[in-house]
Amino acid sequence: MPRERFLIRWTSSNALCRTTRPRSCGQPLPKTWNWLFQPIKSVGSVTSLSLSRFVVQIASLIGVEGGHAISSSLGTLRQLYELGARYMTLTHTCNTPWAHSSTDTTSNGLTDFGRRVVLEMNRLGMLVDISHVNNYTMSDVLATSKAPVIFSHSSAYALCNNSRNVPDNILMKMPANGGVVMVNFYPGFINCSSTASLEQVADHIDHIRSVAGVDHIGIGADYDGIDRVPYGLEDVSKYPALFAELLRRGYSDSDVAKVARLNIIRVFQEAEEVSIKLQAEVAPDNTLISPQPNQTCRPDF
Ligand SMILES: [Zn+2]
Repeated sequence: MPRERFLIRWTSSNALCRTTRPRSCGQPLPKTWNWLFQPIKSVGSVTSLSLSRFVVQIASLIGVEGGHAISSSLGTLRQLYELGARYMTLTHTCNTPWAHSSTDTTSNGLTDFGRRVVLEMNRLGMLVDISHVNNYTMSDVLATSKAPVIFSHSSAYALCNNSRNVPDNILMKMPANGGVVMVNFYPGFINCSSTASLEQVADHIDHIRSVAGVDHIGIGADYDGIDRVPYGLEDVSKYPALFAELLRRGYSDSDVAKVARLNIIRVFQEAEEVSIKLQAEVAPDNTLISPQPNQTCRPDF
């Protein structure tokens, strides 16, 4: 069986350095990383991936977690796309000047400029990630986006009422949008406590299936961002146990394949189709808003 691995290439520039540690700015990739990256191809679109089931691929994306990284500049957004970023979470744990975070309890969502950011991401073919935003921003994005969106790492609010999770009224809108909710494994979002189990993660998947449908579920995990994990899902080597649990619950092989990878690949394909169409119709948006320093929203270097 041929085995190929793909990763969108790591690149460095002043623009991307705004979202990475300053000590890596302008410096080449450390030589010690070569072993990791040498066997990996750079791809810029899902059409570059072989969808053959006989080719084993590991696809990994450059993502931007927190819209503060673009400093309210659509030009910087475009630079990040050129550097390989293929999704952006609109906020992290605090508001940007144009989108409101899950930590914000007001009824503010996207501003007019925020809608422009979403539409420019649609035009570029960069996925709009609405994990971390509040419910009003979720609704505004779903009313604005012309492409399917993702929740890259969020679970079901009905089973754990944490504001990082997705409420049912939003889950119900996912079929019309075509996007996916990729389930976060953090016990605080699965069980609203410090512990959780593999079966409880499967309960969240079940709930999203019952409200949104099996075409709108993915695996978000968040292993790089959480300090506690569920029993039975200690690391990625345990994914097969989760898929076995879904099969035990009556999911078909094709349902599990959708949850594991096909749904997110479909979202990428549809977002790329929307991008091609919009680029033929719409010019890049150069709208400016006045700089609004929001230092509390920047990563703590
Ligand atoms: Zn996060």
